Amino acid sequence: MENDFDRIKCPDCKRFFKNKDRVFIDEINTIIHQKCYAPGKILEVKDNGTYKDILTKLHE
Ligand SMILES: [Zn+2]
Repeated sequence: MENDFDRIKCPDCKRFFKNKDRVFIDEINTIIHQKCYAPGKILEVKDNGTYKDILTKLHE
């Protein structure tokens, strides 16, 4: 089901993430664009990088 997992939308702008988008991920694995991020929109940021990098780490 990796394809489904890859088609996550940003909770703020509702666009699908692209591999090169720079994102933040919080402690419950909510992903948001860095440009869409604002304090309070997600929980505490635990990591950041490109969407592809974050997905790779999640699958490890
Ligand atoms: Zn966004």
